[in-house]
Amino acid sequence: ALAAPAPASHRTQDRRAVTTADAVDAPEDGFRSAPDSDPSLPANQAWAAGIRERARSSRLGVDLVEVATLREAAELDATIEAAIEANAAWRALSGDERAAILHRAGRELEARRAELMEVAAAEAGKTLDQSDPEVSEAIDFAHYYAERARDLDRVDGAVAVPSRLIAVTPPWNFPIAIPAGSTLAALASGASVIVKPARATARTGAVMLDALWAAGVPREVLHFVQFADRGLGDRLIGDARVDRVILTGGFETAQAFRRIRPDLDLLAETSGKNAIIVTPSADFDLAAKDIVASAFGHAGQKCSAASLAILVGQAGRSKRLHSQIVDGVRSLDVGYPWDADSQMGPIIAPAEGKLLEGLTTLGPGESWIVEPKQLDDSGKLWSPGLRAGVQRGSEYHRTEYFGPILGIMRVETLEEAIELVNDVDYGLTSGIHSLDPDEIGLWLETVQAGNLYVNRGITGAIVERQPFGGWKRSVVGPTTKAGGPSYLFPLVDWRSAEARA
Ligand code: GLU
Repeated sequence: ALAAPAPASHRTQDRRAVTTADAVDAPEDGFRSAPDSDPSLPANQAWAAGIRERARSSRLGVDLVEVATLREAAELDATIEAAIEANAAWRALSGDERAAILHRAGRELEARRAELMEVAAAEAGKTLDQSDPEVSEAIDFAHYYAERARDLDRVDGAVAVPSRLIAVTPPWNFPIAIPAGSTLAALASGASVIVKPARATARTGAVMLDALWAAGVPREVLHFVQFADRGLGDRLIGDARVDRVILTGGFETAQAFRRIRPDLDLLAETSGKNAIIVTPSADFDLAAKDIVASAFGHAGQKCSAASLAILVGQAGRSKRLHSQIVDGVRSLDVGYPWDADSQMGPIIAPAEGKLLEGLTTLGPGESWIVEPKQLDDSGKLWSPGLRAGVQRGSEYHRTEYFGPILGIMRVETLEEAIELVNDVDYGLTSGIHSLDPDEIGLWLETVQAGNLYVNRGITGAIVERQPFGGWKRSVVGPTTKAGGPSYLFPLVDWRSAEARA
């Protein structure tokens, strides 16, 4: 669906403006709202500085992770049994009753905004400008899925029969919003849930889940686990008592889950290789800004990130557009989130494999406009890379790198540009910068991706407004849309019944 530009005010994502009055009333330990578009407000600066300072040495969530780490198959077995036993009471609640708890969860998440940002910075290297909207997204999911729980009771002609147990396996790149969204959806649908956050961001997941428990989701219904070894993870996916699995991760992980259990009812949001097209009619200044933000936000570690900029005709020859992009990339300050200047944080782990290749090698015809550099011994801090001359069908054109690299392709016509976009295995997000309605119309009709954005960046989908999920190898299982009206439908079984009078 076409995602129109975000309105001035939409739910919590845009609830940014901290007024002076707020600042005066703010609680002692800081301020509730984000470092907003006006960072000159002392209130916001103090609030953000506090988070950054605590992130440097944060131990939040450590105990929760220790308690949650399972070592023996018998422990996993007991967890599954407990979740299923507790489900009888949870599924018996009405949609209204579950909705009340989820709305409360939204408020508990808001209350933990600073803590969540602190632990996400410490663990995932998330800069505050990235984690702040992520907390807002988690809150939006809570309120949105609360209402969708009510909807389930209102479907004409069929009754929603909840799953007893759903396993949720979220990724490390959105360690707050994605585990929150998947878990809240599963809970809203009436299921018990076992959540296994990615190991790298387990503490962030734990702090997030703590908010849900505080809101009144029973601990027997919602289980947080980590595994001491991988075999236990496979065991969870393979266990027939798990009715469904919600995965966000690589396409290969989804396939591995299917190998473990061929009949698995899997809902997976997977990889992307996303492009932004710029046509000669575009506002080049805006296009350059959106390209850089979409490519390098959270160091490019988003399924939704732009890793290709496809410049059409005159756009490809424009010195102005070229230098705007290059300057935008060169001027990004790279550093750890506790340094106030950092605009782009580290990658999650020392670069290796495909990502290291993408950061260090060029394909035929390619050259570095800005060459990525490893900035310290950790292997995690890299300056952003910009490569020119990416050829159709090349390794770079079709591979997802999940890191801070952007490639430029040049073509003469919009039709060619669309062919390049569609000539990849994935179809998650896609963007066009154009001020010509005919161009936009053609693109909308022919581009193969689930989230389309016109004249804006291609990351940061807003709950309800831009339901998120792709096509092709960006999805495994039903084509779902997180934060969309029907997301809960494939999480339940539907039954219709009639008795002769
Ligand atoms: N929903 C996120 C966005 O719109 C991307 C999620 C992901 O990377 O999996 O940017």
